[in-house]
Amino acid sequence: MNYKRLVLILALTLFASSLWAQDMNYARKVIKDLSSDDYFGRGYINKGDSIAAVYLSAEMRKLKLDGFSPNFYQLYTTPINTFPEDPILKLGDKQLESAKDFIVYPDSPSCEGTFDVLWLNTEILTKSKIRKEFLKKDLSQTFLAIDSVGLNNKQLYNFASDLVSTNLFGAKGVLLRKNKLKYSARTFLKDFPTLIVKSSKLDTTTSKITVKIKNQFIENYKTQNLMGYIQGQTDSCLIYCAHYDHLGMMGSKIYPGANDNGSGVAMVLNLAKHYKKAKKKPHYTQVFLLFSGEEAGLLGSQHYVEHPLFPLEKTKLVINFDMIGTGSEGVSIYNGSVYPKEVALYTKLNDEHSYVENLVFHLPDPSSDHYSFYKKEVKSIFFYSEGDNEDYHETTDTYGELKLTQFEGLFKLVRDFSEQLK
Ligand SMILES: [Zn+2]
Repeated sequence: MNYKRLVLILALTLFASSLWAQDMNYARKVIKDLSSDDYFGRGYINKGDSIAAVYLSAEMRKLKLDGFSPNFYQLYTTPINTFPEDPILKLGDKQLESAKDFIVYPDSPSCEGTFDVLWLNTEILTKSKIRKEFLKKDLSQTFLAIDSVGLNNKQLYNFASDLVSTNLFGAKGVLLRKNKLKYSARTFLKDFPTLIVKSSKLDTTTSKITVKIKNQFIENYKTQNLMGYIQGQTDSCLIYCAHYDHLGMMGSKIYPGANDNGSGVAMVLNLAKHYKKAKKKPHYTQVFLLFSGEEAGLLGSQHYVEHPLFPLEKTKLVINFDMIGTGSEGVSIYNGSVYPKEVALYTKLNDEHSYVENLVFHLPDPSSDHYSFYKKEVKSIFFYSEGDNEDYHETTDTYGELKLTQFEGLFKLVRDFSEQLK
């Protein structure tokens, strides 16, 4: 190879890698912005989800995507339960820290007072004499507690947990001792509160607690999906989607949701940027959908499939990204294994270029927005990065923790796949 040719190749390679470096910077910026305190965890307190929607709408406008409404919104409403004030939990004189030592489960109503704690232990569950005594008790001023750590018979624990979650015994409330405090979001209220306490913060000798929880249930919370698109040569479309909502706040504590799902949003916007820059009109119409309400039960995607902006029968494939900011153990495609043609193309591309590590295809899974499409018999897959996901639904899911190990490879894999899909 002559010198000039070598220089040319080097220059081209550098140019190409600097182009991607810019895109990585864009992805990082999107995740960092969305997971900053300004967006209040993109939930329901302080209208965090709507503030995020304004930001995303501006991004779609900057990318010059087409839309069906000026701000790309698709509006809908939902009921939602919130805790605007910090919940209080005291064990004796010791006050625990909310979101760190304990959480209030999001289907909980208000509750205030000092209450007895009764542990539903193996004895009660397995010995009839002790159980009979237990069943005679009036639990209306008692929190019934179970211990996922100590009750180390999984079946027994699940049984106890089911009994407790229906509150068959009419207890004042429910207390769960666990190693992880996974918060969530709920559109309905139970008639008793549930507290989850970290196992290191209480043991099964705890017999009294003081509680103060104040909920605010919003009947008609206004929220919105966003949709932008690039017209292709055909009306058949490919949908790239991610949910942009997260858990919002519990009192003053913010759930930043950098991996869940700032990472997926960054991927969808990056793909939009890529297709907008492409010189050639894409074969399929490329649709970029950002959903709200996912954490409260796939609400945004459910609304979309009931009110599709592109006919579902012309939707060739839905590619959903949820939690793709990690990946020390590779990349999973949920729903993938039911579509042999798509599996073959993804596998071929990844074998050729080694874009992502350990690409594994799984059976259908209901845990993210692709599932709303799957139920309507629209072909849909869900990308998820495996490993380093310990911060799932905790306040520690921050931008600083994200390694984005598989992000670049995943982008290239999806890009090539969409271009080669027949
Ligand atoms: Zn998610």
